Amino acid sequence: MSAQGTLFIISAPSGAGKSSLLSALMQDRPKDMQISVSHTTRAPRPGEEDGVHYHFVGQSEFKALIEKEQFVEWAEVFGNYYGTSQTVIEDTLNKGIDVFLDIDWQGAQQVKKLMPNAIGVFVLPPSKAELERRLTGRGQDSAEIIAGRMAQAVSEISHYNEYDYVIVNDDFDTALADLRGIVRAQRLTLTSQTHRHDGMLKGLLAESL
Ligand code: 5GP
Repeated sequence: MSAQGTLFIISAPSGAGKSSLLSALMQDRPKDMQISVSHTTRAPRPGEEDGVHYHFVGQSEFKALIEKEQFVEWAEVFGNYYGTSQTVIEDTLNKGIDVFLDIDWQGAQQVKKLMPNAIGVFVLPPSKAELERRLTGRGQDSAEIIAGRMAQAVSEISHYNEYDYVIVNDDFDTALADLRGIVRAQRLTLTSQTHRHDGMLKGLLAESL
């Protein structure tokens, strides 16, 4: 019996470094981890690829996917729609691969309701000043969008206590080690290890040699 993958929900205010942490986690292309690619109606940013960063779709296509019940969750964030495909997640978890959802608190609440075994991780910036500095430094969005995201940040942060783990991304390497530690700990739980080592445990517990 092979272990089911674990579903990790990663949320943070925009600019806390969540996407960079996830990219670093995936850098060596681990076979046992996958980031779920969401659908969104927002326009691609420079350098973003369709099917890699997001599945970029129009409003009517997004609505059709909602009607066909293709999403395990969906939400409106900053005036755009974002959604997570249910079948892709389930198929991947069934292969024993851990799946990471980079979604907001609204999506996290929906996923937790449907899949209570999902592990929530919230990434916090060390301060508001540092968050603003990072949002400005990214240089991809207008001042108006940055101001809007700063206002949204406080509302997103107010949901930190709905998650299982909290990472403070002050020093990037420490935050990455924390994330790796959470994933590793999850793989060592009694449930995961019992599934993973089913044969070995039977052998160890057998009466005869
Ligand atoms: P961005 O447009 O900067 O890529 O993402 C904006 C926000 O939308 C982020 O907080 C991100 O986590 C969230 N988001 C991305 N994909 C999804 C999704 O499929 N569902 C939900 N609920 N939020 C998402």
